[in-house]
Amino acid sequence: AHINVIAAAEPELKAFLSVSATEALKTADEVDRRRAAGEELPEMAGVPVAIKDMIVTKGIETTAASRILQGWIPPYDATVVEKLKANLMPILGKTNLDEFAQGSSTEHSAYFPTHNPWDTERVPGGSGGGSACAVAAYEAPLALGTDTGGSIRQPGAFTGTVGVKPTYGGVSRFGAIAMASSLDQIGPVARTVLDAALLHEVIGGYDERDSTSIPEPTPAVVKAAREGQKMDLSGLKVGVVKELSGKGYEDVVSHNFEHAVELLKSMGAQVSEVSLPNASYAMPSYYVLMPSEVSSNLARYDGMRYGLRMMPPADVAQTSANMMAYTREAGFGSEVKRRILLGTYALSAGFYDKWYGSAQKVRTLIIRDFEKAFEKVDVLVSPASPTTAFKLGEELTDPMTMYLNDVATIPANLAGIPAMSLPMGLGNGLPTGFQIMAPAKHDDMMYKPAAALE
Ligand code: GLN
Repeated sequence: AHINVIAAAEPELKAFLSVSATEALKTADEVDRRRAAGEELPEMAGVPVAIKDMIVTKGIETTAASRILQGWIPPYDATVVEKLKANLMPILGKTNLDEFAQGSSTEHSAYFPTHNPWDTERVPGGSGGGSACAVAAYEAPLALGTDTGGSIRQPGAFTGTVGVKPTYGGVSRFGAIAMASSLDQIGPVARTVLDAALLHEVIGGYDERDSTSIPEPTPAVVKAAREGQKMDLSGLKVGVVKELSGKGYEDVVSHNFEHAVELLKSMGAQVSEVSLPNASYAMPSYYVLMPSEVSSNLARYDGMRYGLRMMPPADVAQTSANMMAYTREAGFGSEVKRRILLGTYALSAGFYDKWYGSAQKVRTLIIRDFEKAFEKVDVLVSPASPTTAFKLGEELTDPMTMYLNDVATIPANLAGIPAMSLPMGLGNGLPTGFQIMAPAKHDDMMYKPAAALE
């Protein structure tokens, strides 16, 4: 059924870079066969998943929506993909994104932009616009995304889907193409909070192949979501983040946010305003730390090991250095180049302390802000994005405006805490997103109010 929806919707939406229908049907048939034979199968067996093309899949082309990886077929699966396969979940295909997950609209894909199913003249958000679009348009019931600064949650807000960034280290990053390793996290995209929790439990858990993987088991997020469905939040302390609402947020977003907070109160939650004094420095800190890590991580695309290789023209010396330069010039798009340049500058001798060192200090202050806030409240809430989905092309030539999309989502990445976005109603006919953040390793705490609200 999903493959039929994909066939009908893709010409207009373009959520997928590739569809693996034959493979998906094979897994589905295997599930049918084994179930008919009376075998006990995992709970999620047969539920198909779309995968952001930032996550490697054995035997399926993986490009990060970049020319530099065009044609690259990974020889191994990411840990999360192994887990999907172990649970007999068919893989529908690879979804579109901003090149190397850098962007907020999916327009920076080297191949084509993805359209928002609510209004195809608008963007689905980014970088995981493909996964969010596929789930919102019923092309897939579930998808995987990656979130470095908001790439699961902001597309969630723009498409009316549930997007979760788990605690840093809670889901293995082995096989996630690295963007900014200290911030990157794989997470679920779904249409309901319970669906997201079910996928979260499939992909979560310790992995010795990821050095930052945390040893504790995945928090009981499915149980928490089921609890939440009872819509009783008495005793839950909710903090509205002062710095992440109000000025700079579109009226419809603020209006729906206030309404959602009222709903939390009506279900018994104790709501207070909480300050994260350094939250306004999250963006500038992120735009030093993230490009620094990007410049380092993307140094591996040298024309030797993966994907594209461009030899210099005949009148240029045929050296390996020139080959690398021509490969990177042709293989990377403008946004990726901008970040490599920024990061290389921030890390260069003489500037390292001033830029990278200062940004790291700010990051520590933000982590402390959250620690203090969580002494007072159980979860923190804010809008997930300051605006509703904008029109294709509207922000493409203005990087600073594009970067502002993530003002509410970036603090959670800097602090490594879990955060999710869920639909909080329409504004001018477009979805808006509610963000819930919880203390590290307590992902379950955000699922309860999320399920209650929905
Ligand atoms: N939109 C943010 C950026 O451009 C976040 C990216 C992400 O989470 N991968 O960096």
